[in-house]
Amino acid sequence: MSKHKDINNNASRDDIGSNALGPLTQNASAQMPSHPNIGLNAATQPLTRSASGWHPKVFIKTFGCQMNSRDSEALSGLFVDRGYRIVEKADDADVILVNTCSVRAHAENRAISFLGSLKSIQNSKFKIKNCQSPKVIGLIGCMARNLGEEIYKKMPHVNLICGPGCLDKIPDYIKKVSEKGSRIIDLEDRDRNEELYSLSFKVDSDRAGVVISTGCSNYCSYCVVPYVRGNLRPRNHQNIVDEVKNNIKAGVGKITLLGQNVNDYHYQFKIQNSKLKIITFVDLLKMISDLEGLKEVDFISSNPRNSSVELFKLMAERSNIKKHLHIPFQSGSDRVLKSMNRGYAIADYLDTIKKYKEIVGGSLSADIIVGFPNEEEDDFLATKSVVEKVEFKYAYIFKYSPRLGTAAANMVDSVSTEYKEKRHKELLDLQKQISRKLQKKC
Ligand code: SF4
Repeated sequence: MSKHKDINNNASRDDIGSNALGPLTQNASAQMPSHPNIGLNAATQPLTRSASGWHPKVFIKTFGCQMNSRDSEALSGLFVDRGYRIVEKADDADVILVNTCSVRAHAENRAISFLGSLKSIQNSKFKIKNCQSPKVIGLIGCMARNLGEEIYKKMPHVNLICGPGCLDKIPDYIKKVSEKGSRIIDLEDRDRNEELYSLSFKVDSDRAGVVISTGCSNYCSYCVVPYVRGNLRPRNHQNIVDEVKNNIKAGVGKITLLGQNVNDYHYQFKIQNSKLKIITFVDLLKMISDLEGLKEVDFISSNPRNSSVELFKLMAERSNIKKHLHIPFQSGSDRVLKSMNRGYAIADYLDTIKKYKEIVGGSLSADIIVGFPNEEEDDFLATKSVVEKVEFKYAYIFKYSPRLGTAAANMVDSVSTEYKEKRHKELLDLQKQISRKLQKKC
């Protein structure tokens, strides 16, 4: 069943979810300040469509990962293509979008607090010119899908809620909200329109993020990604290669392949005699590395379950593949890993690391969670021992917080805040020493 709807007395149901996006033309590439606020001096922006005569000013605030930054960038491309203007300050905007992350409580709290602070702006004198409508204030991305209509109940000044699957529809929804004074909510989990990725609007002139897949089908017990972004959806490999080619043509030679679980990428399609062909992550990486003019390609984030010797051999043999692997292990304890539903034992992880070091010899980084339910001191010591053994260049260390709707949210959050903080600090201090030691060696 479709999850999008209009919350309004005067907008018809037919308005909602219709794809009013016309064919999108390639816009001029623009330089902007980088994440977390996508902004650009309105006066300097190229306007490619002026026929509609409606050019609202848009401000996007981004929370979360590189994937979210790329989503905001791609969305900005749609806006600029339609003649909307991107501005640097929320105060200057007719449309304020908050692109959110639900992976950690901290990012979610910051986004909620920012969204709350917009109440005064909505109630102020600002109106969309010639429209006599309120500003459009939208919650988009993972939190939208996670919290949905609850936000409307708590925040009357918000009038647009769109999940990660609906980004390509946002320009149309903005128009409807502003013209009809309606509220729109669309949380449907669907394939994104490929045109979202086809525009050349870039935040960084040196490196481009290219989304190769969205969602994840691993269902780690603490992680909200499969619920808010859906199961793994690989993009057609040819579209990905074309996007990389377009970046190279535009002078952006360094590419980061993005996905919640990049090396689980497998795109399946029919060839002759109805036979199936599967393009794996290694196949895709090879195709991209082969492109003329590509200076460097890297990728984030990898899962230990899907990191193969074949991948490492390719990394070693190609000079334009960055010799760095971000490979989260989360805990050094098999008992905790099982409870996290990670699908590997720590001996498997260490074996993968050993092979990477032998074959590629590059640097490593990881994500680690401390204070997962039922984590005992011995479990934590096992995590510390992995950090000591592997010697990561850097690591993102998080204190566990339960995420709504996940399996772990039903477990007792048994580790006290005091212990989570103590373990977090201990691990952070250890990692800092290792990072410093590795830096000196360079
Ligand atoms: S592999 Fe990563 S994105 Fe997928 S469920 Fe596990 S933690 Fe979440």
